[in-house]
Amino acid sequence: MKNIILTGDRPSGKLHIGHYVGSLKRRVELQNSGKFDEIYVMIADAQALTDNFDNPQKVRDNITEVALDYLACGIDPNKSTIFVQSHVEQLTELTFYYMNLVTLARLQRNPTVKAEIKQKNFEMSLPMGFLTYPVSQTADITAFKANTVPVGEDQLPMLEQAREIVRSFNGLYGETLVEPKAVLPENKSCLRLPGTDGMAKMSKSLGNCIYLSDSADEIKRKVMGMYTDPNHIKVTDPGDTKNNPTFIYLEAFSTPEHFAKYLPEYASLDELKAHYERGGLGDMKVKKLLNAVMQETLEPIRLRREELAKDIPAVWEMLKRGSDKARAVAAQTLAQVKRAMKINYFE
Ligand code: ATP
Ligand code: MG
Repeated sequence: MKNIILTGDRPSGKLHIGHYVGSLKRRVELQNSGKFDEIYVMIADAQALTDNFDNPQKVRDNITEVALDYLACGIDPNKSTIFVQSHVEQLTELTFYYMNLVTLARLQRNPTVKAEIKQKNFEMSLPMGFLTYPVSQTADITAFKANTVPVGEDQLPMLEQAREIVRSFNGLYGETLVEPKAVLPENKSCLRLPGTDGMAKMSKSLGNCIYLSDSADEIKRKVMGMYTDPNHIKVTDPGDTKNNPTFIYLEAFSTPEHFAKYLPEYASLDELKAHYERGGLGDMKVKKLLNAVMQETLEPIRLRREELAKDIPAVWEMLKRGSDKARAVAAQTLAQVKRAMKINYFE
């Protein structure tokens, strides 16, 4: 069996450091590992429209932004096929057939969808398109026969849903689709990076993000204004590092080299944490270190991004090439699906 990756992001905003550690960084590592036969990276515009249908310009503008973020982080269009979801209309057709294999109750039980419905105030008027996006995600994954899907933790229920649909399809119509598995970040702090405001998830829709494209000043302002332990009032107070995003970000981004360079009086993050937990360490010192780490991590990405942004038509050319290629692959799977379902009447 071939090793194939499918991942993607919704063009509902620019990408942030949660995307970077939760999924992007891993994708680039997997891409460069040479262990995969094919890699597809999808900009999920049709999915973004399920909760932004009233603002198509936003989705359109963010396709460019997300593509720039990808390229700046090292996704290489010569190794990975970057494409736009809506250009591959076969995905919509697959979704329609898969819908028969899912019940309303099953979709309503999905914990991520449940949380998002609440967050978006969709409780009283839930668009059907939004509720069914896990089915469309199954179409995205299976159209490319992907067996590996590198994602953040919030996507696990979507992967479970996809596996159920695949099993159901193969059971009914014969072995056709490939069951995918999720690949989560190894570093536990990266599974679901919290927001700068301390909310459980950094999310484009919540405005609590540090973006990959933020300027040095913006990064500094956001780090300095970050939520910490609200009970750590005086420097001498013992502090909590577990629910404190400044420490979670340090877990996600800092290396021993950063300590040697910016805070040599501490040998490691563990020592810094122990000091904070004991009391006697102020938030300002922690934030200064975090700012230095974030600046060092994000500067090369930002500079590459600024370079790439000088030629936006080239970015769209690349997307067009990728989307055409993705469409040809999805068409093959769709033909197999129709054959399996006995609806290939005119073949
Ligand atoms: P939206 O609010 O529009 O849903 P989002 O910030 O959740 O946007 P998505 O495009 O839905 O971003 O997610 C893209 C990928 O990034 C998914 O694999 C998701 O698991 C991962 N991801 C998103 N936010 C985080 C986060 N805070 N920490 C780790 N991974 C994340
Ligand atoms: Mg999301």
